[in-house]
Amino acid sequence: MSADDTASPTPPPPTPDAPPATAPAATPDLTPELAEALRRAAATPNLVVACDYDGTLAPFTDDPTRAHPAPGAIATLARLAELPRTTVALLSGRNRAALAEVSGATAPVVLVGSHGSEWEGGFDAPLDDDDNALLARLHTELGEIAQSTAGAHVESKPTAAVLHVRPVEDLAARERATAQAMAGPATLDGVFVTQGKNVVEIAVREASKGAAIERLVEQAGAEVAIFVGDDVTDERGFARLRPQDVGIKVGEGETAAGHRVADIPAVVRLLGTLADLRG
Ligand SMILES: [Mg+2]
Repeated sequence: MSADDTASPTPPPPTPDAPPATAPAATPDLTPELAEALRRAAATPNLVVACDYDGTLAPFTDDPTRAHPAPGAIATLARLAELPRTTVALLSGRNRAALAEVSGATAPVVLVGSHGSEWEGGFDAPLDDDDNALLARLHTELGEIAQSTAGAHVESKPTAAVLHVRPVEDLAARERATAQAMAGPATLDGVFVTQGKNVVEIAVREASKGAAIERLVEQAGAEVAIFVGDDVTDERGFARLRPQDVGIKVGEGETAAGHRVADIPAVVRLLGTLADLRG
């Protein structure tokens, strides 16, 4: 013990009804309610922490293959994932291979792609001939819209075609392309449409981050799940959380999440705080 330590005032003895751990101090990115929710989650025997990727841990870019994680994001996730009885998952709309590539995250972080339908062992349900024909038609129709919109492109996913209009500089053209997709291929029988930030994704399989979170919770026997996301697709995740779970929306916009942080660096700090509390 150093002289400085002996010079410090002696802390008062704990009272019998004192909580087992104190909540982290509230900061500009951590409201008192969120700080308390993290303390409670950190103390739970089995915990699931699921995070969206784009806009939550990685800034948006015009080239999605270059959407690298924010500094410290993956290292902090890995630190959490190494803790006992702590399941940490990246839960993204990207296909799983692309998510692995761009994030650099590896086991024990669990990677779940395609909005919750693509796991390590593959897809929940493989596509049949009708699904494949519908998927080809979606590609053709969205491709026609992209061709007449400078800057737009169509991404091919295992169960979906995705129109990207973020790089379209002409805002009117961007809106027109989105409207054409919503009025055309998005209305076909048997499709599932997800409209995100400058993205229209039309899938031939229903996928939900909510169902994926439930599966992670079931596998882990988790008493509490934390889910962090920024986009409209994450709302299906927030909507399915149980009362004891912790939903955290990143940035502005309406949300079903109970908590909010301002930006991606705040998410990284929050995950670090959680790892400290649970470590
Ligand atoms: Mg996102």
